[in-house]
Amino acid sequence: MKSTKSKNFHNAPRRRRRPPRLDPARVNAFRRRLVSWYGRHGRDLPWRHTHDPYEILVSEIMLQQTQVGRVLEYYPRFLARYPTAAYLASASASAVRDAWEGLGYYRRAQNLHRTARLITREHGGRFPAEPADLAKLPGIGRYTAAAVASFAYGAHAAILDTNAARVLQRVFGPGRRRGRESRLWAVAEHVVPRGRSYDFNQAIMDLGATICTARRPACPRCPVRGACDAFRRGWFQDARSPRSRTSRKTR
Ligand code: SF4
Repeated sequence: MKSTKSKNFHNAPRRRRRPPRLDPARVNAFRRRLVSWYGRHGRDLPWRHTHDPYEILVSEIMLQQTQVGRVLEYYPRFLARYPTAAYLASASASAVRDAWEGLGYYRRAQNLHRTARLITREHGGRFPAEPADLAKLPGIGRYTAAAVASFAYGAHAAILDTNAARVLQRVFGPGRRRGRESRLWAVAEHVVPRGRSYDFNQAIMDLGATICTARRPACPRCPVRGACDAFRRGWFQDARSPRSRTSRKTR
């Protein structure tokens, strides 16, 4: 199951950065294998059956600090109670708190509620399609804005959550810590393929959640191992992370 999404990547400011120098053949192989694997092994999640920006936003906000399994339980219940931004906008703060009870980090519900009110009162009920406009709404950072634009509107937008960041770090630049976050955003923007951003973005999050996991990446069955720098360097030959190998050696 997908892990929760890191806050660090959510609110990263957008800075102009030179495109990274990556081998085009490796980038193409990575894209092709990833998207093809997703076609066969992508997880069937309820928010992947909709292009409604409100429904996608609800899922993204819930996933920010809650495990997928728990979100699967709450998501349909919340949407049954508040099926549109207008319904949510008209609810009282205490009713929204009740509906969120059990998910924790109640501030997320407050922001979602404020966003629903803004959308209803100031945007005529329509969510903006541009990531830059979405990012002006309460509680919507860079990652969430790009996710809504990509998953609801099919916009060409790169995403970077914890899972995607781990995959990109291992495939295209293991070992370099300085400026990692802005470099990873630049890599994400560079590798997302035009016209396939929806599948690519969903695929990279799934790969990070199910195969390229933090502690025990399953490299032998990874579809992108042929393009992966960490795999080429033999980092995960014994299925332990470099950190765990180092600490064992140190001990
Ligand atoms: S080969 Fe291993 S380290 Fe590289 S992306 Fe796949 S699972 Fe992750």
